Amino acid sequence: MKAVLLDKPGPIEESTLRIADLDTPRPGSGQVLIRVEACGVCRSNLHTIEGDWMSFGVPGKLPIIPGHEVVGTIAGAGEDVAGFATGDRVGVQPLWSTCERCDYCLSAREQLCLTKETTGETVDGGYAEYMVATASHVYAVPDTLESAEAAPLFCPGLTAYSAVSTAEVSPGQRVAVFGLGGVGHMVAQFARLAGADIVAVVRSALHLELARELGAERIIDASAVDAGDALSRDGGVDASILFAPSNALARQALRATRRGGTIVLGVNADLGELSFFDNKRVIGSVIGNRVQMREVLRIAAAGKVRALCEAFPLEEAAATLRRLKRGEIRARAVLVA
Ligand SMILES: [Zn+2]
Ligand SMILES: [Zn+2]
Repeated sequence: MKAVLLDKPGPIEESTLRIADLDTPRPGSGQVLIRVEACGVCRSNLHTIEGDWMSFGVPGKLPIIPGHEVVGTIAGAGEDVAGFATGDRVGVQPLWSTCERCDYCLSAREQLCLTKETTGETVDGGYAEYMVATASHVYAVPDTLESAEAAPLFCPGLTAYSAVSTAEVSPGQRVAVFGLGGVGHMVAQFARLAGADIVAVVRSALHLELARELGAERIIDASAVDAGDALSRDGGVDASILFAPSNALARQALRATRRGGTIVLGVNADLGELSFFDNKRVIGSVIGNRVQMREVLRIAAAGKVRALCEAFPLEEAAATLRRLKRGEIRARAVLVA
């Protein structure tokens, strides 16, 4: 099979990925083989490829096939797999497998499992014609969704849905979305669906236009205005959800949020000193669990949210990642086989 392989992490400008011709993997017990149709290109892939997460043990093996938002069809199954037929369309999210026994796994927080495997980071992922997945961690993709538009639901969609649920958004609230990229554009949609008015805080012309399309009630151009000042001046927002990798924006999000409000972080951030008497909650949110994944697919199949994507051929993985790094991808790039 054709696959995009990372031999050694390094700057993507130096083209650290190569197209390889590999043996098609064989599914083991409890596993399925998927013929990949589409795989989203995530900023996490870029971090893995460039070696930014080596201190966290990522990539967990080399060489490795990146990619963790995958949609394809069942092409085979190992022992002890039931409920799948060849040709069934399924998806894989970053959570490739979990132990299913620990406290986290038994309390619907399996994304925190300490012995989880992560698709494309510790095991081979979806930048390939085929990949192996754990049968208990694949999801049926509704017929109404195209594979390319369904792929981003498996990371940005799930991550956004989980972040909005962590923020406990309720109708009539005002929610600021900091950063409107792959995840942010889904956060805006899920928060609106929860009944909130959206303030989009963006830094590029590309995302200003996207914010308008998504029906944001207010748009703040953070390249010209301090969102913390602008929003706190008129009462602040109930919740801020941050997926922009910027300490400056994180600090603006903290100030933009009213007393007693919630700041959800989907990226690492240095917030500086936190004052206890404002009673603000700061919570991290990482991907989501399997129940939430199924809910995201159901909501998208009903046409209530939509992942905006641009398709590129699998062979152009490195070029597409360079475009992502340069800020040239509007919402989500997807590699198609
Ligand atoms: Zn992702
Ligand atoms: Zn576990």
